[in-house]
Amino acid sequence: MDARNAPLAGQKAIVTGASSGIGAAIARAFAAAGAVVGVNHHGDVAATQAIIDDIARAGGKGIALAADVSVEAEVQAMVRDFVAREGRLDILVANAGIQRDALFAEMRLADWQRVLDVNLTGQFLAAREAVRCFLKQGVVEGVSRAAGKIICMSSVHQVIPWAGHVNYAASKGGVMLLMQSLAQEVAPHRIRVNAIAPGAIETAINRPAWSTPEALKRLLTLIPYGRAGKVDDIAKAALWLASDESDYVTGTTLFVDGGMTLYPAFADNG
Ligand code: NAD
Repeated sequence: MDARNAPLAGQKAIVTGASSGIGAAIARAFAAAGAVVGVNHHGDVAATQAIIDDIARAGGKGIALAADVSVEAEVQAMVRDFVAREGRLDILVANAGIQRDALFAEMRLADWQRVLDVNLTGQFLAAREAVRCFLKQGVVEGVSRAAGKIICMSSVHQVIPWAGHVNYAASKGGVMLLMQSLAQEVAPHRIRVNAIAPGAIETAINRPAWSTPEALKRLLTLIPYGRAGKVDDIAKAALWLASDESDYVTGTTLFVDGGMTLYPAFADNG
């Protein structure tokens, strides 16, 4: 495969939370770009197999990796098994995430804790295992200009406060500084760490916000570009951040949000 059509040729990637939504789209895009992709799931075996079958039909290679990203031993085993099979890890997309919404006064500690465990600690655990691999491997001539790349799936709610979702917003605010602090620490080792902050992308996590015409109309008042996002909008951004095309980019959050973070309520109210 030539580098233009297959910018990830020969690379090995793990995408967490890849049995649905944004993670599944990234897994497919990375495989189409030439990477072998570890498709992490949390028990959704049939959906994961369907993605791996799609990837195989398109001429690529995917590997199912079961693990709860919030459990240290499972994340370590996932990365260890993948590297034992594929010899290396070049790219991690720390994408798995959940919502457990409630008004603040009614939020149960279990809902606060679970969201922080999956969305923030899950990213810490996966990124730490990836960094350990990257440090061991160093830059491999002919694979990539970097020793490794990490993409953290954040959200516009790393900067937009979100009433009724304090656990989620706190987790994504945490992801932002996890990403930046890690990027600063590992840049001298030629490891790049970036984040993507999606706006409203049509997936299962936010179905009530886009699945009826009334809900979609309300949602579009928040999106200057006038449409909800698709999973491929995010997959394309992830592919760029994972490839050498973005070799000088680290510590950055790429907002892929149709302008949601542009304070649209101020557009005719200046
Ligand atoms: P989704 O619900 O389809 O995907 C989330 C994935 O994470 C699922 O595949 C789920 O099985 C997996 N997961 C959940 N808990 C897990 C665990 N403990 N271990 C491993 N995997 C686990 O929704 P999505 O929209 O594709 O979400 C993907 C990421 O994008 C999340 O981090 C989410 O916060 C972020 N995001 C989504 C939007 C959006 O509008 N859809 C916006 C901003 C950010």
